[in-house]
Amino acid sequence: MQKAIYSQRRQNLVREFRAKGVDCLLVSALPNIRYLAGFTGSNALLLLWEGGAVLFTDRRYEIQAGEECDCAVQVARGPLIPEALKLVRRRKLRRVGFESHRVLFDSYTELCEGLRPGSRAVAVRGWVEGYRMVKAPEEIAAIRASVELNSRALERALKRLKPEMSEADLAAEIDYQMRRLGAEGTAFDTIVASGARAALPHAQPTSARIEAAQVLLIDMGAKLGGYLSDMTRTLFVGGAGKRLLHYYAAVREAQMAGVEAVREGIAAEKVDAACRITLARWRLDRFFVHSTGHGLGLEIHEAPRLGKKVKTQLKAGMVITIEPGVYIEDFCGIRIEDTVLVTKNGCEVLTPTSKEPVVV
Ligand code: ZN
Ligand code: ZN
Repeated sequence: MQKAIYSQRRQNLVREFRAKGVDCLLVSALPNIRYLAGFTGSNALLLLWEGGAVLFTDRRYEIQAGEECDCAVQVARGPLIPEALKLVRRRKLRRVGFESHRVLFDSYTELCEGLRPGSRAVAVRGWVEGYRMVKAPEEIAAIRASVELNSRALERALKRLKPEMSEADLAAEIDYQMRRLGAEGTAFDTIVASGARAALPHAQPTSARIEAAQVLLIDMGAKLGGYLSDMTRTLFVGGAGKRLLHYYAAVREAQMAGVEAVREGIAAEKVDAACRITLARWRLDRFFVHSTGHGLGLEIHEAPRLGKKVKTQLKAGMVITIEPGVYIEDFCGIRIEDTVLVTKNGCEVLTPTSKEPVVV
């Protein structure tokens, strides 16, 4: 990311301070700090006020913060909140915005106790996340690269699939291939679930052997340049019976109906409904137990969520997943998930991996 982008993002926030009723903002969520100052370490606070920004971190990150951040860096010898509050008091900043959905109760208490009489903590929620929903061209490029790496990693791992492999073996192979292709890591714990275990939408890979005549559900994502990808494919091992192919056709049709519905201006709930209505036609809607998708970027689950009653309108530049599924207890689970970029007139499916039923 070009460093100029960070100061622009901070300026956009500061311009809203008056409307939000704050004199400064204490940013504590690390992805938000990365978004606003470029810092990638694991311990930091960012204080923003009109005319200034200081990143507080500890000595482990002294060199790194200097290299990564375009704003002032202050290295604390102890806990960060008291350090930040010293500056708040010195600058006579009275209304201190804090990220109420991201702060531990202990940190909140520490914040309140450190404020001068007459000053107060003002809860703000999802403010930076709101900006993060629409991605800049540099971010879209980073997500695209992550998505492409992720698909290549699946392709390579499947070439190495052997009959004696367990779910955990395949998950390890997938993670290894991501690393070999240059990923910084996985976006989340890779899911490999075979047979009836695929009915658990967030199954952990086990030592169970991947056996013939079963489904093999793989949900995986890479982290590259800080940006994440997310894809699910459901494959058939050895072959597929009629019932499995029937479910697969339904989920695929629902997934494509979801993709088809995406465009600028549509409410997130409408995209979710498109998937649900399709599954209802197959009488399978009651087996779709989660929402249709989510935004992603620096984090795997970002706004907007694509679910029932979510009125958020999609905008060009948002990157979201479309991932309907059906989960039949004691039998199988099928999910198909793509990462898509919202455009003015529709969307671009970024995930290059085929959705044709594949037998491995
Ligand atoms: Zn996923
Ligand atoms: Zn997902």
